[in-house]
Amino acid sequence: MFHSARIRLTFFYLAVIMAISLLFSLAIYSLSSRSISGSLRRQATYFENLPRYDFDPNFNLSPDSQAAAARHELQFDLLLVNLAILVIAGYGSYLMADKTLEPLEEALDAQSRFTADASHELRTPLTAMKTEIEVALRSSKLPIAEARDLLVSNLEEISKLEALANGLLKLASQDKEVSYDSDVSLDRVAAEAVSRLKKVVSARHQEIESTLSEVSVRGDYASLVELAVILLDNASKYSEEKSPISLSVSSSNNHAKLRVSDQGKGIAETDIEHIFDRFYRSDTSRSKNKADGYGLGLSIAKKIAENHGGIIRVSSAIGHGSSFTLELPLSR
Ligand code: ADP
Repeated sequence: MFHSARIRLTFFYLAVIMAISLLFSLAIYSLSSRSISGSLRRQATYFENLPRYDFDPNFNLSPDSQAAAARHELQFDLLLVNLAILVIAGYGSYLMADKTLEPLEEALDAQSRFTADASHELRTPLTAMKTEIEVALRSSKLPIAEARDLLVSNLEEISKLEALANGLLKLASQDKEVSYDSDVSLDRVAAEAVSRLKKVVSARHQEIESTLSEVSVRGDYASLVELAVILLDNASKYSEEKSPISLSVSSSNNHAKLRVSDQGKGIAETDIEHIFDRFYRSDTSRSKNKADGYGLGLSIAKKIAENHGGIIRVSSAIGHGSSFTLELPLSR
């Protein structure tokens, strides 16, 4: 698909360049031939006034024939120049078409990879539910206890599907470019995220130690809370029970900083560059348990940070924990 588009675009660029080149050649030709005729005529008048014996009798002084010869030479030169332009512009147009289509090709590749990943993630719980229901339907008398277990298991799979659909929706909602014009207090954002995760964290006997300075940024309160929840939830999920988590909000060098640190399992250096990719989960043993997530959290967080003109930095060491720092421009 992109090959034929590349060829068509190459021809289009080439046609534009050649049209401009031919237009210039025509202009040069008509201006030059006019000035050639004029100067030859002036030259002829000058020579006619000189004594005749100075000249070679075979030398044709007719200004018209000399002008025709000069024009012929000019035509030939312009033809050569245009041929050279055709070859160089042909090559250049192909490179330009390639460069123009490159981001589109990448976007389309990413889109199809995303669709394939999403379909795969959707199919897994659906297949599990289908198999369980088919097995249950094979027995003529299904005991009520078994039916109940089946429903409980189906409900779990439905919850996973719901979580996946929510993640995909959040990701899609962050795909739009937005500009924010209201000030948001980052310390309030952090406090709200902590209160939302209170139950999850205390169920794992963990504690969040917060150090929150008053810092304001431009942005969307709900999205920033979402981002902080993702970072805190990961810090809790990927740490042992009772492991401490720290959260701080501060400002330095014209930047607001929200940092979430844990003393959990850490992230391998080779994984760090991928953890913000959609559906990427670094721990393969955990990835079998989709209740923990689908690898969408950090990609949503990254999108939110980018939409706010910010960035998320990660530092981590296997077995020692991770630290995620959101940096945002301070509001003025
Ligand atoms: P999810 O948590 O749903 O798998 P995320 O996009 O939030 O998806 O994270 C992607 C991966 O990055 C996780 O699967 C995990 O392996 C790794 N990760 C994220 N946060 C942490 C953390 N605080 N400690 C260790 N690993 C982490």
